Amino acid sequence: MAPVPGTVTAGDQGSTRKNNWREKMDKTDFMKYAIDLSQRKMDAGEGGYCASVVVKRGEIIGEGWNDVINNSDPTGHCEIHALRAAGKEVGTWNLSGCELYTTWEPCQMCAGAIWWARIDQVYYANSLADAERLGMDIDGLHREVSAPTDSRSRPYERLMGEEAWAVLKRWLDETNPEGM
Ligand SMILES: [Zn+2]
Repeated sequence: MAPVPGTVTAGDQGSTRKNNWREKMDKTDFMKYAIDLSQRKMDAGEGGYCASVVVKRGEIIGEGWNDVINNSDPTGHCEIHALRAAGKEVGTWNLSGCELYTTWEPCQMCAGAIWWARIDQVYYANSLADAERLGMDIDGLHREVSAPTDSRSRPYERLMGEEAWAVLKRWLDETNPEGM
């Protein structure tokens, strides 16, 4: 079954749309859609050497492609864009009950976002070992995020905790963040 090309406009990362095809899609179809999306965005000169879709009950509710270089966005990974689009689509940050299909195994930043979003299941195509082979320091990133703040390669220094806590405490008093 050939996926129907998307209607997302050029450069419009936040856009989502309903599935256009009538047949029920399986996980291979969703991954094929993600791979096609990355190809289309790369062909269009919008980055897109990897792409992701978030699926809820068999329907794509968010999609994204990598635009780190094109958009000068250090966090412009495809998973982040797809999660943001999905959250907007369903009106909640909590994406439990959803699956993420991504053409490249999520890095630690994206794994963190997937954790916060409570995604149920991740499917990936290319691996992080491929990234290492291309010279990306995935091991270094893993060491950095696993290390305590006082032993990271980039120095972390705590500053004005009391003042910041006053704001946070107001938020805790005025809202019910339980369950986040
Ligand atoms: Zn990432």
